[in-house]
Amino acid sequence: KPVVIIVVGMAGSGKTTFLHRLVCQTMASNIRGYVVNLDPAVMTLPFGANIDIRDTVRYKEVMKQYNLGPNGGIMTSLNLFATKFDEVISVIEKRADQLDYVLVDTPGQIEIFTWSASGAIITEAFASTFPTVIAYVVDTPRSTNPATFMSNMLYACSILYKTRLPLILAFNKTDVAQHQFALEWMEDFEVFHAALDSDHSYTSTLTRSLSLALDEFYKNLRSVGVSAVTGGGMDSFFKAIEASAEEYMETYKTDLDKRR
Ligand code: GDP
Ligand code: MG
Repeated sequence: KPVVIIVVGMAGSGKTTFLHRLVCQTMASNIRGYVVNLDPAVMTLPFGANIDIRDTVRYKEVMKQYNLGPNGGIMTSLNLFATKFDEVISVIEKRADQLDYVLVDTPGQIEIFTWSASGAIITEAFASTFPTVIAYVVDTPRSTNPATFMSNMLYACSILYKTRLPLILAFNKTDVAQHQFALEWMEDFEVFHAALDSDHSYTSTLTRSLSLALDEFYKNLRSVGVSAVTGGGMDSFFKAIEASAEEYMETYKTDLDKRR
């Protein structure tokens, strides 16, 4: 069975560029990938998608028809698509034995996918059929700011607990800033506190307390540094995917069977 990789992350973190890198990487090594685009608002995709939400729903039309702004239009388009998602799953199931990976890109704004009913339906549909892993893309240069780093970790944490799927932190753009600092912050909260030290604002105090709570969360994830632009770190990423797929089999799958 193919492993589904759902790529999520804040707007501009590099999800689409990273997916493009995954597509190039799989093609170059004769790994069979199947590409799904769930962003109805993307203008041009750098890769060819096997299934593209834009073939089914036109988000500009949806905006007009329902009198919505851009975010409402994207959200409604995703809702409309989610109602037909069983068809997408059966198309993929038919070719399952010819595929190694299903690569899924999600809308630019993270909350449209991770905080919507349709995002949950789509994730659940994948996860109940195939081993499924979440790749959470982090903008590493921006996350050198401790408050931005903490926002990202809280988001990733909420996704982990909401989906209960294996999650990989993909620290992207390491061609601009190495992710070593992030690993150190996750490893030892005192190092993170030191980065906040001179700052005694409310945000800083909150960030400090949150880092204590997240200690346990950090132990439940895999972190890799990648560059979607140069292709750096992709080997480690695929290793993390392999380990996560095994984790899915051991934990999520047995949970799911129990609930049935
Ligand atoms: P998305 O909104 O998460 O899909 O982000 P995009 O893939 O559209 O990328 C947002 C911006 O980040 C674009 O200008 C990309 O060229 C840039 N970008 C993405 N990945 C990398 C990377 O690994 N290194 C650098 N330097 N820039 C990147
Ligand atoms: Mg994108």
